[in-house]
Amino acid sequence: MTVITNHMPTQELQALDAAHHMHPFSTQDALAKRGARVITRADGVWITDSDGNRIIDGMAGLWCVNVGYGRDRLADVASRQMKELPYYNTFFMTTHVPAIALSQKLAEVAPGDLNHVFYAGSGSEANDTNIRMVRTYWAQKGKPDKKVIISRKNAYHGSTMAGASLGGMSGMHAQGGLPIPDIHHIDQPNWWAEGGDMSPEEFGLERARQLEQAIHDLGEDRVAAFIAEPVQGAGGVIVAPDTYWPEIQRICDKYEILLIADEVICGFGRTGNWFGSQTLNIRPHIMTIAKGLSSGYQPIGGSIVCDEVAEVIGACEFNHGYTYAAHPVAAAVALENLNIIEEEGIIEHVRTDIGPYMKELWTGLMDHPLVGEAKIVGMMGSIALTPHKESRARFAAEAGTIGYITRERCFANNLVMRHVGDRMIISPPLVMTRDEADILIERARKSLDEAYRQIK
Ligand code: PLP
Repeated sequence: MTVITNHMPTQELQALDAAHHMHPFSTQDALAKRGARVITRADGVWITDSDGNRIIDGMAGLWCVNVGYGRDRLADVASRQMKELPYYNTFFMTTHVPAIALSQKLAEVAPGDLNHVFYAGSGSEANDTNIRMVRTYWAQKGKPDKKVIISRKNAYHGSTMAGASLGGMSGMHAQGGLPIPDIHHIDQPNWWAEGGDMSPEEFGLERARQLEQAIHDLGEDRVAAFIAEPVQGAGGVIVAPDTYWPEIQRICDKYEILLIADEVICGFGRTGNWFGSQTLNIRPHIMTIAKGLSSGYQPIGGSIVCDEVAEVIGACEFNHGYTYAAHPVAAAVALENLNIIEEEGIIEHVRTDIGPYMKELWTGLMDHPLVGEAKIVGMMGSIALTPHKESRARFAAEAGTIGYITRERCFANNLVMRHVGDRMIISPPLVMTRDEADILIERARKSLDEAYRQIK
């Protein structure tokens, strides 16, 4: 059998990869023809591929490497923990120090009375937990019919059966018989694409009031919870109009339904606070966490739960849990990651320095002929590409073409920037410097120019 190393020629690595590795969200045929980009190492905000290209990572991996790559502290903690206690679980009245310490820290940084953590291995698993937890909560309170969870079209909540069902991605629902029962989707607050003649403020209210309408239609006695990302990430970094969240909060309060904020992307500094809920003034009962929790250095996720929900759940045996929940190595790395965020003032950096600087550069892209809208909250941003800014028109070509072309030009220019249809999105490591932000924008602009020339 061939020994595979970083030093093998790219084409050989690609051929072996395509032969044996099934990739998520990819077409295997295309991988066989063209080969995947092979990433071999990374430091700070930079990744290096097998051809030696140094690429600026505008996506922090998959929105997760908040503290940047190459952190010795995290490697050292993982190594120490592996030697001391590489694995133990927290089932059946057992615990360990990394789980205790991480939970205490999360309770400290989470807002309000979100003081209790149920762990998972990923954001998807955590959202599975959330479904079971809110249904169990209502059953414990004598309301077993309160099962329906309302979510939003074009939301992303993960890839398991439950996560993908909560999500509102039609392409995902089309495969595998989704959504599972008792999940209902309302429209997303995407003014650029769906706002028509309404002002953003009117549209924000209209979309929020769909929640109230859905509660009436489905029956107050059947609705258990509403779940949403504070800023929709994978749907295209959709920032709701200012009127949206206060109205959602009012409705959740009025009908006493549980509010789940999926903080998998927005959490851990990305929006300039520990959590997106703080930036957008949302008061959730449960927050889903993953990604930035360990900056992607270890797979770990969870649900941070408020006192009352934890108390109700705690009164019964919650028949639910994952082998790797609160994995000691992952928990130790996550805790060290939170310490780094705190000690280095990374959230301050986003709120007062790199965030505002990036906002200036990002919104400056509005002068480009292709860019119709530029939105950014902290260090997650999007631009909408359009042939006609005033009418917010879409390109006539099949959806995604201009975005795809631009993404390919970004790759060629050593920038990772993703596209969602005709929106280009960024979510770089939070430790980015101003010089690096300049480079990111320079490469983005060059890529937009090239895409523009290509379609003219
Ligand atoms: N929730 C949100 C908001 C996400 O963006 C993601 C992943 O992108 C998930 C949940 C799923 O997390 P994971 O991929 O860790 O299962």
